[in-house]
Amino acid sequence: MLDYYKILEVPKDTSQEDIKKAFRKQALKYHPDRNQGNKESEEKFKEVNEAYETLSDESKRRRYDLGESNIGGFNFGENFNNPFSFGFDPVDIMSRFTSHFNREGRQQKENIQYVVSITIHEAFNGCEKEIEYERFVKCKQCNGQGSENLSDIKVCPECKGHGTSTASNGFFTISSRCQYCNGSGKMFITRCSLCGGSGFDKEKEKVKVKIPPGCQNNNGLKIREKGNQQEDGSFSDLIVFIKIIEDSIFSISGSNVLANIKVPLHYAIIGGKIKIPTLHGEKEHEIKPYSGDKYVFEMNGLGYPSYIGAKQYGSQYVHIIWEFPSSGIPEEIIESIKNIPVNNQTFPEYTSTSSGKDA
Ligand SMILES: [Zn+2]
Ligand SMILES: [Zn+2]
Repeated sequence: MLDYYKILEVPKDTSQEDIKKAFRKQALKYHPDRNQGNKESEEKFKEVNEAYETLSDESKRRRYDLGESNIGGFNFGENFNNPFSFGFDPVDIMSRFTSHFNREGRQQKENIQYVVSITIHEAFNGCEKEIEYERFVKCKQCNGQGSENLSDIKVCPECKGHGTSTASNGFFTISSRCQYCNGSGKMFITRCSLCGGSGFDKEKEKVKVKIPPGCQNNNGLKIREKGNQQEDGSFSDLIVFIKIIEDSIFSISGSNVLANIKVPLHYAIIGGKIKIPTLHGEKEHEIKPYSGDKYVFEMNGLGYPSYIGAKQYGSQYVHIIWEFPSSGIPEEIIESIKNIPVNNQTFPEYTSTSSGKDA
């Protein structure tokens, strides 16, 4: 592993300011234009750039100090298919998907993934949400060049500007990102004071997202060209993932809705009409007398859309939960219920339920 501090001739605890100064000094010293055809200084120039790439980035520098090599690489790919597996800060999600490299080895900014939480009613009816996130845009100070001074930008002598280096063992040729220029194909004598040479800056963006009725959990909506800006000026896409917040009454299973409805206990005995909430509004339902402890029924066509935007709906399955009086049932009522014969039979008294152990 190269000693980056030695290459820049700075002490280990040096400030970012001094690293910048040291880089400029060393880059000028080994500048290819001043050392025409000198292979050794060309090599030095590449090392100076590599050292600066790492030490000028606080997080890369920390990992380098801890002895990690190959720090130039980007951390992307883990959990790529599951935007819900990490903690929800959308900015954090974005920073994990900052870059990857296309076939030419050029740095390519990823689509941005954003998770928006909505209620089940919003999912059913459709809604509009304004979301705010950060995205990369070309640095305004250097116009995306990485340096304010165009003459200070050189073609990387290692990869000749392609951004990739190739290695061959006779059978296979393996292309990988050029480690000297970090895939940019460029090397700098001075770097833009705003973006540090990356050519990109972060910008806050607000977008209104129309969420159509009938979305399912984890559905993604693509909003074209609202992602990160690319080197060629175009933009990647913003992908908004739907997360439906858990509801105390309703849950969705495909096009069916499961509803847990609390009903006062006396309906179980004397029956009566009640209002059942559905996503389509309240519907009257008649409970028959003596309907028992488990009570489930189907409400046809009052479920969730079969697909996004559909006018056909599945069923709502209602699970009645009998609600006991919060103050308890008065003793004399319990006594009189106990003495009512069931199917013309009287049953022996069970004492175990209240007093405990013996059945
Ligand atoms: Zn290179
Ligand atoms: Zn800049």
